[in-house]
Amino acid sequence: MRIKVKKNDIVTVISGSDKGKSGKVLKVFPKEGKVIVEKVNFVKKHTKPSQKVQQGGIVEKEAPVNISKVKVICNKCGKPSRMKITTIAGGKRVRVCKKCNEMIDEK
Ligand SMILES: [Zn+2]
Repeated sequence: MRIKVKKNDIVTVISGSDKGKSGKVLKVFPKEGKVIVEKVNFVKKHTKPSQKVQQGGIVEKEAPVNISKVKVICNKCGKPSRMKITTIAGGKRVRVCKKCNEMIDEK
């Protein structure tokens, strides 16, 4: 499975309870096919007091979302779009938006 989502991409959630939310990709887990998206899929975690955290309690933290549940928002046309991967001169692989046909990655 080829991961077409990269860190710092803006994605929108297309299914599940967070459908319609969008945010920045904070982390990608290529093996698991999952991503952590800012402010999406918050889960409550119980923490115990430690040296770092003075107070124990409940913290909300983003949990990984399956990559099939998100779509990258094109930074050229601003629409959630599927991406295709093209090899450009010099052998670099870049992602191209299927809606506007613009490269969303740096050359
Ligand atoms: Zn586009």
